[in-house]
Amino acid sequence: MKKAEMIAIPQVSSMVVVAAVTAMLSCCITQTAFAHTAPHMTPFSSYRYNVPNATIQLSDHKTKSLWLAAINKWNGTHAFTFKIVKSGAQIHADSFSSLSKTYSTTTGITYSKICGSQLLSAHVRLNNASLGKYKYTTAQRTNVAEHELGHAMGLLHNPNAKSVMYYKNRYVSIQPVDVSAIQKDYRFLEFSDTFGSSPVQEHTFYDPVTPQKATIQADSLNVLTHSTTHIDFTKVNPGK
Ligand SMILES: [Zn+2]
Repeated sequence: MKKAEMIAIPQVSSMVVVAAVTAMLSCCITQTAFAHTAPHMTPFSSYRYNVPNATIQLSDHKTKSLWLAAINKWNGTHAFTFKIVKSGAQIHADSFSSLSKTYSTTTGITYSKICGSQLLSAHVRLNNASLGKYKYTTAQRTNVAEHELGHAMGLLHNPNAKSVMYYKNRYVSIQPVDVSAIQKDYRFLEFSDTFGSSPVQEHTFYDPVTPQKATIQADSLNVLTHSTTHIDFTKVNPGK
C-alpha cells in the first residue's frame, strides 16, 4: 500500500496542475506549446476511480439500449470497463423528460460525487424531452450517452469539436483523443487516495443542445432561391 501511495502523489499533483492550466488556457490551448505535444487531448479532472473500471446500473427502460450502446463503445476501447450490475452500482444511468426553463436546452447531465482525488459515484441522465424536441437520432443520442459516461470516468470538456467530450457534442462518437486521456490518467492500475479525510463534493455537468445541422433549412433555401429567381424574372419582364 505504501508503494501505491508513493506512486499516487505525483500523479495527483500533475492532474491538478493539468486541470488548472487547461481551465485557464482552454480558449487558446491550440496556440500554446501544447500544440506541439497533444493539441486536442481531452482534459481530465483531478479525480478518478481507484481502477479503470466501474459498476453501472441501468434502471430506465426508455434509454437502456442507448446506454448499452454507449457502454459497449467505451468497453470496446479497452481503456475503461463498465460492468453492468443490478444494484449497488457506482454509476446510475437513466433519463428524465423536462422542457422547463432549467432543462429545455439540456440534453444530458452528470452528477459526480468526489472525495479528494477519489471519484465515488456518478449519476448520468439523458433528457428525452429536449433530445426529442431537437430531433436527435438514435446515433446522436448514443453520442450524448458516451459523453456523459466520459464525465462519469473523470473526463472534462474538450474545446475541440472533434471529441466526444466537446461541450455540446451531438455528431461525434468516441475519438482517439478521448481514449488517450483515459489511458493516460488511469495508467496507474492502483490508485490510492491521499485525501481520504476530505469532504464529499459534487461536480455537475449540464450539457447543452446543439441544433440540428441545416439539411432541412438548406432544402428550404433552394425552394426560396427558385421562387426568388422566378419573381425576379417576372419583374425584369413587366409584360411588354
Ligand atoms: Zn459535458
